[in-house]
Amino acid sequence: MLRTIADTADKYEAAAIKLTSAQRVCIIGLKEDDIDNAWDDLGMKPAAAIGPCVRSIKICPGTTFCKRGQQDAVTLGLELDEKYHGMQLPSKFKIAVSGCMNSCSEPAVRDIGIMGTPKGYTVMVGGNAGIRPRLGDVIADELNDDEVKELVDTIVSFYKTHAKNIESDA
Ligand code: SF4
Repeated sequence: MLRTIADTADKYEAAAIKLTSAQRVCIIGLKEDDIDNAWDDLGMKPAAAIGPCVRSIKICPGTTFCKRGQQDAVTLGLELDEKYHGMQLPSKFKIAVSGCMNSCSEPAVRDIGIMGTPKGYTVMVGGNAGIRPRLGDVIADELNDDEVKELVDTIVSFYKTHAKNIESDA
């Protein structure tokens, strides 16, 4: 995959390849006319990088790759990414999943933070690392994967219905 990304960046004479804080690989400096072809070459569906939507779910290596992992953050995070990434909401919306309480993916400062513990997942809401940082409130703990997914569904549905679009009010 890294070779494909590098080849695509070369082919379209990108200015740079960047690793983002959300753990994505960003090809910078493509011409607008080349973007659709670049996605085809990468063999990926276009990502939702900006705008009022769910951003890519930030995950840590969890039990898949990390010796400290207590929960499988990779599987849960990718399932959530598949379902929510790009979903249009009243404002941008960030979700993170960590495999243990070391919180390398920073779940405490995401709109929904899902933190692995020895007894399951703790779920936080309302965290933010922006201009006015805030730690999320813990609303549930000791959840299994299915319970987390059900709760995330409820939170996202509530947000979709009740959140205020501050961008359109500005
Ligand atoms: S949060 Fe825990 S499991 Fe995830 S990378 Fe950090 S130490 Fe490893």
